[in-house]
Amino acid sequence: MEPESGDPQATFREVRFTTEHDAKVSRAGAIETALAGLVVAALPIVVSMPWWATVLVVLGGVLMLGFAAHLRWAEPESASDTARLESEGVAARAQIADAEDVPDVGVLHRISLLVGADGLTAFEATHLCSNRVCQGAVARHRRGERATLPVLVSPTAGEWMVSHRRASR
Ligand SMILES: [Zn+2]
Repeated sequence: MEPESGDPQATFREVRFTTEHDAKVSRAGAIETALAGLVVAALPIVVSMPWWATVLVVLGGVLMLGFAAHLRWAEPESASDTARLESEGVAARAQIADAEDVPDVGVLHRISLLVGADGLTAFEATHLCSNRVCQGAVARHRRGERATLPVLVSPTAGEWMVSHRRASR
């Protein structure tokens, strides 16, 4: 493999578009999941069961707590990344190069994009998405029309994001 040294574009990180509202919903979901996890983990205290069932139940409860923690932390972080890109990012259009359906999930698309903006070397990126903005663009691409998605790029932070907020044209 030829290492492409001096090509910082290759390391662009995708930020998942998350609004403050999404983050709030996610926090509420995280609290519910955490409570359910605690209840599950505490079951062996009130219900007598074989030792191996106790192990499985406690493990299940701990997994739910872990999932809750992931929801709690990942979404608010994405929301602040989203807000930062929306205030500092360079607005650009990404050309859809290709779009595949993810098997068994009809509305989920793996979209290959060519992202370009003024003063920025174009780079290729993949966006896995079921958002209606992206679905509409994939439909246009499949009708043979020119299809682009609104993106925001921050060359300094090395981040990019498909902006589902801005209406697709
Ligand atoms: Zn999308």
